[in-house]
Amino acid sequence: MHRRSLFALVALPFPGRAQSRPVAVASFSILGDLLRGVAGDAMESRVIAGPDVDAHHFQPRPSHAEAVRGAGVVIRNGAGFDGWFNRLIGSTGFRGVTVTATDGITLRRASPTPGHSHGGTDPHAWQDVRLAMQYVRNIEGGLVRADAAGEAGYRTRAAAVLARLEALDGWVRAEIARVPEARRIVVTSHDAFAYFGAAYGVRFRASAGVATNAEPSAQQVAALIRQIRAENITAVFLENMANPATLRRLAEEAGVRIRGRLYADALSAADGPAATYEAMVRHNVGLLVPAMSGHDA
Ligand SMILES: [Zn+2]
Repeated sequence: MHRRSLFALVALPFPGRAQSRPVAVASFSILGDLLRGVAGDAMESRVIAGPDVDAHHFQPRPSHAEAVRGAGVVIRNGAGFDGWFNRLIGSTGFRGVTVTATDGITLRRASPTPGHSHGGTDPHAWQDVRLAMQYVRNIEGGLVRADAAGEAGYRTRAAAVLARLEALDGWVRAEIARVPEARRIVVTSHDAFAYFGAAYGVRFRASAGVATNAEPSAQQVAALIRQIRAENITAVFLENMANPATLRRLAEEAGVRIRGRLYADALSAADGPAATYEAMVRHNVGLLVPAMSGHDA
């Protein structure tokens, strides 16, 4: 407590905000967790689209504009994921540091869904742990730019987060390697796992496109059911923020059991199974491996 008030007196990075720490605002919960890891206690970390909230189609409220207005740093995913956050930043006259977490990442094209091809980029890069490490480096750079006095702390904490993520990436690879390649096929609600699939050698089939509001046609659903039967797919999952109705119907018609809920675009609440980025990855992989293998979980 004493140390914190001393810091505020010394750093003073934002005139008129002498009583409080600098504020960093992240657009959605996954960025918020990576931000907290680098910011530590030196900044106040806030999140706009919180746990279990669909950040593809978020509607900010006036209180959110207020939070951005008072911030020294804002962190967005970019790649078309959180366009509402760009509009929010623009509407507030924000003059601080803007971090785009996907900077420096080669983005994938969104896989075209039949009858629904709008040829955008796929924003879900965080599902590849090595790309989440690039997110951390970008956040680190932004916090240092916004608050040079705290640089040593940001660098130290970022290095610790990167070491944890590197170990996590190795764990994911070892877990997926336990599943024979031919069995590594997964059906989910929306197309959020292409980066995960490319990084770790898993094929994902989604009933909807990369956006959560794309409803598949009857023909797409029928094609997916045929595929589940033909390839004997046993790994069928709901997601925490996508509408489960289509997938439930699909699983029923294909005669397969839904294996649980993957965390795609948002963390769980603090008492849930995916309260942090690392917990999310471990939860997802912990469900995927037995389901792909066809073992009873
Ligand atoms: Zn998504």
